[in-house]
Amino acid sequence: MSIPRVHMEQALAEGAECALTPAQAHHLGVVLRRAPGAALRAFNATDGEFEAELTALRKERGAVRIGPRRREPVVEPELRALIAGLKRDAMGWAVEKATELGATRIIPVLTRRCVAEGGKTERLATIARGAAEQCERLSVPVVDPARPLHAVLDAWDGAPLLVAAERRESRPLLEFLPGLSAPCAFLVGPEGGFERAELDDLARRPFVSLASLGPRILRAETALVAGLSAMSLSLDHPPDASGTRAPHVQPRPG
Ligand code: SAM
Repeated sequence: MSIPRVHMEQALAEGAECALTPAQAHHLGVVLRRAPGAALRAFNATDGEFEAELTALRKERGAVRIGPRRREPVVEPELRALIAGLKRDAMGWAVEKATELGATRIIPVLTRRCVAEGGKTERLATIARGAAEQCERLSVPVVDPARPLHAVLDAWDGAPLLVAAERRESRPLLEFLPGLSAPCAFLVGPEGGFERAELDDLARRPFVSLASLGPRILRAETALVAGLSAMSLSLDHPPDASGTRAPHVQPRPG
């Protein structure tokens, strides 16, 4: 039986007692059928990951005692995912996958052909937290409230932004990977695509590069996964001076 991981907002240190959120208590008790005494892992980006024990669980409330640290905190490359509003289920799926693929900030944006706002920020943040707990990362991406695309671009800090652009002259996304460094970002359009004026506006911004994901027209969620996969692989495994990427192996569970 695998040991469940719980993300904690509060500072973690051996001996501390921490409260679970209602969603975590529900998930541990009802879905995973854990009871007080069960082994857990508690983590956050600032303090790392700790062994922990479930000390109390009643309906939507629960408490955890923190044990010894088992993973030190790490600096993660900053990778922002900008997603044009999708329908509720598709947006939830996209947020889950963006979290698994290492996005550190998820920015829902509103474009002219958006059919939906993508759902409530709180729900998307809960999905991101659950995905982070499941995929063994130490941080949970920040989920921003949905904003108009032009407002996000007008306030942009200049980090390179790759924009998935189909049916438009754009260089293959692969070409951008060798020089890619954090912070950087990836934007996918809505199901109906960007309007020409939106792409013209994007192309004029000095921090934007239009990128192709190949000859097939992908669903927006698929495009998000394809682009983020390539970018996060490149950021997580940078080449050394000879161009070689170091082998990597995840620590064994337990
Ligand atoms: N309705 C559009 C059309 O038929 O021209 C297709 C939009 S596509 C379903 C949704 C989004 O995924 C696009 O706005 C774009 O960001 C991204 N996308 C899909 N396929 C792509 C490709 N081959 N290259 C780059 N981006 C792509």
